[in-house]
Amino acid sequence: MRIDVPLFKIMARPLLPISGSWVDASPFVIFFGILVAAHLLLKRGKNVQFWRRISQSVAAFVFIIFLHRCLCMLRSWIFALNKVGRNDVIAFGHLCMFALLVSLTLAFGRLFCGWLCPLGFFSEFLSWVGRARRRLPRAQRLLAGYLMLAGTLTLVTWFAYMTRPGTQFFAENIAAFWGAFLLLYLAVVLPFEFGDRKFKGARYVSAVLWMLLSVIGVFVTSPWCTFFGDEIDYSSAVSLAAVLSGALIVPMAWCRYLCPMGGALGWIAKFAPRKLANSTACTSCGACDSICPMGALNEGEIDHSSCITCGSCLKTCGFHFQITEGAADSAKPAHDDKEGAADA
Ligand code: SF4
Ligand code: SF4
Ligand code: SF4
Repeated sequence: MRIDVPLFKIMARPLLPISGSWVDASPFVIFFGILVAAHLLLKRGKNVQFWRRISQSVAAFVFIIFLHRCLCMLRSWIFALNKVGRNDVIAFGHLCMFALLVSLTLAFGRLFCGWLCPLGFFSEFLSWVGRARRRLPRAQRLLAGYLMLAGTLTLVTWFAYMTRPGTQFFAENIAAFWGAFLLLYLAVVLPFEFGDRKFKGARYVSAVLWMLLSVIGVFVTSPWCTFFGDEIDYSSAVSLAAVLSGALIVPMAWCRYLCPMGGALGWIAKFAPRKLANSTACTSCGACDSICPMGALNEGEIDHSSCITCGSCLKTCGFHFQITEGAADSAKPAHDDKEGAADA
């Protein structure tokens, strides 16, 4: 069986060509516009989830169907360095996406993940299944998790086998292995999924590995390429199938544990001055844990590098965004001193 997917971008030409070239400025303008609007809507604090869905839907339409623009910043700076001096317009195009993502994340945190990224959007949409499973008692939760994992592994392997190309090269198909690794990684994470912070470090390894491969000239495709590119390649499609099925088991599994771009953006977000904080004393009730799609809240402790600034927790306890000094990986909750004094 072979799947031939037609080109599906509405715009085949640049909307705002730079210097008459094929480098299009319109994705940067749209990208910048969406993220600044997202920041203002988040700051206003009204109907945040409604506006976030609108933002994600617009971004999905623009970047999947309307025009072609690779939004991967991990490779774009490498491509830019490769082109500087030989084709400065193309170098500028690659550098723009890198500069925009880095600077907006440095300013506002991971807005890209929470408000724009189509892969995050679809992963979040599918996460209701994993959320329902996580409400089961432990034994049933684990049994359901492993059964789902066995089922998805079988289906993804079958899909990978049935759609395999005539010739296979390890380097070309690395993305498919990345997707398969996610499902295997979930087998290790499942018994510890409620205290999974230590497993999230894998996304930094993933980011470094992804960049190293690009530096040595191995072109690694990714699940995003299925959406952003103007054609669908085998390994991107297989990794996308693995990533979306992983989201059915653990909410936003790829974003939590393995997304290389999420790893890079999470690291940068630690330096963003505006971070989530809690203004009320925490009783460690755990009520906020299940609200966060990324598992960035654990009994009141905030994992800043995992927070995608979705705003879902803003109506819980005293969570709000505020300007803080210095870089911070996480914030411990403030506890009620009176309670501590009574205990003593
Ligand atoms: S972590 Fe990766 S896939 Fe998830 S929303 Fe961010 S960039 Fe997109
Ligand atoms: S900590 Fe709050 S704002 Fe950040 S991702 Fe989780 S729910 Fe969204
Ligand atoms: S921050 Fe609030 S909701 Fe979360 S554990 Fe503490 S008291 Fe409970």
